[in-house]
Amino acid sequence: MTTQRDGLVSIRRGLANRCPNCGEGTLFRGYLAIRPECEVCHAPLARYPAADGPAFFTMTIMLLLLIPLLGFTWALFRPSPLVLLASTTIIVTLLTLVVLRLVKGAFVGYLWAKNEQDRGA
Ligand SMILES: [Zn+2]
Repeated sequence: MTTQRDGLVSIRRGLANRCPNCGEGTLFRGYLAIRPECEVCHAPLARYPAADGPAFFTMTIMLLLLIPLLGFTWALFRPSPLVLLASTTIIVTLLTLVVLRLVKGAFVGYLWAKNEQDRGA
């Protein structure tokens, strides 16, 4: 296939849980499972192997957020260490689950744009 695919458009579609090809069908089936194929345009979505990529990027993003979150919360409110630990754990856990899904959608969109398919091991 030699047709040019727009990376930004497909990343944006992936972020919004849309098929990177048509932007109509949904990308995810459930929380993180990718549909085998788009229900609208039948693009083979499951052939784009995100593997560990989304988890790696999510960890990096969350670490970059965690440090200033801890620092500013401590500097502004001076909570007891246990309160700081508990509140940060809850906030970061929930945020990670949200960010992971967004990053995985964007990642599959990017793989689709680059036509980076799983060719089988
Ligand atoms: Zn589609």
